[in-house]
Amino acid sequence: MISISRLTMRLSAGGRSVTILDDITLDIPDKQRVAIIGPSGSGKSTLLGLIAGLDRPTAGSIRLDGREITSMSERAMARFRREKIGYIFQSFHLIPTLTALENVAVPLELNGDAQAKKRAAELLAAVGLEERQSHYPAQLSGGEQQRVAVARAFACRPPILLADEPTGNLDSAAGQQVIDLLLGLHRDHGATLVFVTHDPMLASYMERIVGLRDGRIESDRLIAPSGGTVERES
Ligand code: ADP
Ligand code: MG
Repeated sequence: MISISRLTMRLSAGGRSVTILDDITLDIPDKQRVAIIGPSGSGKSTLLGLIAGLDRPTAGSIRLDGREITSMSERAMARFRREKIGYIFQSFHLIPTLTALENVAVPLELNGDAQAKKRAAELLAAVGLEERQSHYPAQLSGGEQQRVAVARAFACRPPILLADEPTGNLDSAAGQQVIDLLLGLHRDHGATLVFVTHDPMLASYMERIVGLRDGRIESDRLIAPSGGTVERES
């Protein structure tokens, strides 16, 4: 369960305080698939980064599996993040000096997995890249890089997977491959999925769509099994 309560984020820009997230309250049950949508600048990436503990809010609470993360030390947060959270960026963020295999092995090695390289090879095979293990990111297409990033994010089987516009830099064929991969991993291993996306195709696979505008939740819809939508009380 991701439990966000009265979350506010203010930053100062040019000597003025700017409210980027304004009193966000949101509960996401385990294994739910949630899309966060909204115009550019509405606070989507900021919200995702706060859920990942990459940043600290001005006020409010974020509980992941009952643990309050906003007050954790950097060190405790780094460890908690490794165990609980996989994160996928729009621009892949692979380490350019490491091969595909080494990139996927990093989180496993950090977690003390003695079989990290072997596991990483299995993960790359699972995303259809067994032939690309020793390629560096610059030698891979965007779609291939994102599949490496998906393998890396899932490496430690995190219960929460966050992705910020994971198909945003991909053409529709490569985007569809990444979507199929994420949904397949979700089906096989479970995980709560929270995806920021502008991609209607990706959003259509989610169970719930939360719309942000100007740092507030503007809409929160559950997609009914029939494909229709129901409004939620908020
Ligand atoms: P989105 O992902 O929905 O496009 P962001 O969360 O990236 O939106 O940003 C929300 C707002 O916060 C934007 O207006 C952006 O300019 C502003 N913003 C983001 N980061 C900073 C920062 N470090 N300092 C000042 N303003 C920021
Ligand atoms: Mg963004």
